[in-house]
Amino acid sequence: MAYDIENIFAKILREEVPCVKVYEDDNALAFNDINPQAPIHVLVIPKGPYVSIDDFIASASDSEIAGFFRAVGNTARQLGLSTPGYRILVNTGDNGMQEVPHLHVHIMGGRKMGPMVAI
Ligand code: AMP
Repeated sequence: MAYDIENIFAKILREEVPCVKVYEDDNALAFNDINPQAPIHVLVIPKGPYVSIDDFIASASDSEIAGFFRAVGNTARQLGLSTPGYRILVNTGDNGMQEVPHLHVHIMGGRKMGPMVAI
């Protein structure tokens, strides 16, 4: 699947659409999810044009991958979630029910997240 430069997260990266930014570095931008499923629900996206985690792992450089996952962890730490913990989630492709075709890691916390859900 080709990267769609008009997807909503590409527009957020270009500052054409606003977001509530919670973390940014050279590799990643993190912002509040517009429809939160937990008291804290943040999305972390790489700055490069990657459709999904599958595309990212296949195409990104080692430094982009390392930098991005460090940014995910740094975001969670900055949000004060290291203790008592949090959940991360990456929906991927059709069966994963991914809605926005730019890789995003969901960070959810602020309450017990409950059992893993497969529905
Ligand atoms: P997914 O189903 O994993 O692709 O998740 C997409 C997420 O993007 C959903 O949780 C949406 O609430 C969120 N979302 C969509 N548009 C925006 C936006 N403009 N700002 C922040 N979050 C958004």
